[in-house]
This record gives sequence, C-alpha cells and structure tokens, in this order.
Amino acid sequence: MTSGGDSPGMNAAIRSVVRTCAYYKIECVGIYRGYQGMIEGDFTLLTARSVNNIINKGGTILKSARSDEFRTSEGRKKAHENLIKQHIDGLVVIGGDGSFTGGVIFNKEYSFPVIGIPGTIDNDIFGTSHTLGYDTALNTAVEAIDKIRDTASSHNRLFFVEVMGRDAGFIALNAGVGAGAEEILIPEENLGLDRLLESLIKSRKSGKLSSIVVVAEGDKSGKNVFELAKYVEDNMPEYDVRVSVLGHMQRGGSPSCFDRVLASRLGVKAVEILMDNKTNLMVGLKNNKVITTDLEEAITGGHSINSELLRVSDIMST
Ligand code: ATP
Repeated sequence: MTSGGDSPGMNAAIRSVVRTCAYYKIECVGIYRGYQGMIEGDFTLLTARSVNNIINKGGTILKSARSDEFRTSEGRKKAHENLIKQHIDGLVVIGGDGSFTGGVIFNKEYSFPVIGIPGTIDNDIFGTSHTLGYDTALNTAVEAIDKIRDTASSHNRLFFVEVMGRDAGFIALNAGVGAGAEEILIPEENLGLDRLLESLIKSRKSGKLSSIVVVAEGDKSGKNVFELAKYVEDNMPEYDVRVSVLGHMQRGGSPSCFDRVLASRLGVKAVEILMDNKTNLMVGLKNNKVITTDLEEAITGGHSINSELLRVSDIMST
C-alpha cells in the first residue's frame, strides 16, 4: 500500500513489489487508500500484468490517504481482521515517517510483519540517502526556478521562491544550489534577517540586478515567505520584490530515472526480506547499496543537512 503524501516513484515501487512477488510465485494484494483502505477492506489482487505501464507515472495507482481511524486501536483491529480474512501475511508500506509509525504500532499490537519503503519528496528519513520522489521533486523545483529566473532578470526583480520542506531543507538547499540561488533559507539553520539583508545589499553592490532567494516552507526566520518579501521590500525599496510558491506541483510528474531505478531496487529487497521472515525494517540506499534499517530508527534517527553544501552555497553567492 501507499500511505501519507504521494511522491513520484510510488508507482514504480508498487510495480517492483508486485513483479517480485510474481517472480517468486507469491500472491500480491494491493490495498487502496493506505490504512483507511485496510480498515475498509478495499483490496485488489495484483498480478504482474496489473502494473504494466506505470513505472513512468506520478502519483499512485493504489491512491493514498491519511487515516485518523488507524490511530485508534478499534481502527487497527478492523484493519487486522481484514488482513487475516484476505490471508495476507506480510505488509509493505510505501510512505513517510507517519506511515512507518502506524506500521510499527500495528506490528507491536498484532506481531504482523511490516516492511517500509521510504516514499516522500522531503528526504527526511533516517537510513537512506534518498527517499522515493526526492530526486524528481528536486528536478521539478530547479526547472521552475530556472523559469522564474528568466522573468526576474528581465525585470530586475528579486524573487522569493517557496519550496516544500516543513521540517527538512533538502529540497531548498539542493534546488537552491542547483538553480544558483542568492540565498537559501532552511528549517535547520536560522541565518537571521540581518544576514539576509546584508547579503542582498552586498550582491546589489556587486552589480547583480536580479536575485532569487529559495525559502523552505519551515524556515526559521519567524516570517512566512510573503512577510519575508515585505520585510526586504520595506528595507530595500530599490528592489522590486515578488513571491512565487511552487506548492503541490513539486509532488507530481513523471519520476526521474533515478527514482525509477531506486524504486525497482527497494521493491525487490522489501519482498525478499519479508520472505526471510524479517519484519520492522525499512529498505533504503546508502553508498549506492540497498540496506535495511530498523523501522523505529528510521523514524526517530533524524536527518542532518550537508554543511559542505551550505558552504558551497555561500561561496557561490559571491
Ligand atoms: P509524508 O511524509 O509525505 O507526510 P507520512 O507517511 O509521514 O507521509 P502521515 O500523514 O504523517 O504521512 O501518516 C500517514 C498515516 O499513517 C496517517 O494518516 C495515519 O493513518 C498513520 N499514522 C501516522 N501516525 C500514526 C500513529 N501514531 N498511530 C497510528 N497510525 C499513524
């Protein structure tokens, strides 16, 4: 099943799980709408041919949902009854940390085997260098910022571009460096408003007439992207400031080749470790090797931002 926020590459992961099951002659059942579908018994039998032509499609053919009912023990009881009724004996959850938390709780209550595949554009999961959809979302954000730069430079404007990332600055930092942003504001680091103004004044003095500031949704300046733009406009009236919020477009679109390959690799591993009677593990990527991490550790392990990239960004905005 796919659960929580959708991300590009989820379909490729479904395909991989289904085809791996077919390869090993294991019956595979798809659960629609995440945990809510599990509670409602919304299941479908998936064969190798059910997943033709989906590797290149964004979103998820199994749909996704957030389920408050699964947070209750009654909800999880119903879900368990449905799995037993369907003779299901192992669960692959493609989702983010919330979906994994649900899986861990479910496993504790019913000893039901659960394996996680990290599917979220935020890349905020411990135990993998990349989550499914992150690479695609990065490329989508860079492409959009490139387009904004065209209009920014034609009108000598300063653009604040908000990208997704409430708790993690991976998209902002990497898309910012990739798109040549002047400044990048992320949740993990509070540059301070003075430093932002200083940097913009410096770049204006150095001859730059237009600039891009990339802001993660959860940046720690204490102002949202519109307030930030107003603050800069009030303090630097010489700048014509505009805001662009990229929003949900970052979740959609055809997955990049990287995400498709990653999804295919993780799906195979997820089924194979279930066959080995392993449970409560997440499959992930480290140093280009598929590895497993304890599911609880994947949730609680936290994430750290690459300080070298912050330094590169600083040097590039000279
Ligand atoms: P994203 O990172 O894209 O938001 P996510 O998997 O973290 O994805 P959530 O909405 O946090 O998305 O979680 C998905 C679902 O997992 C929830 O709607 C709920 O059904 C289940 N879930 C999350 N936390 C718990 C919990 N503490 N107990 C039981 N179920 C939970």
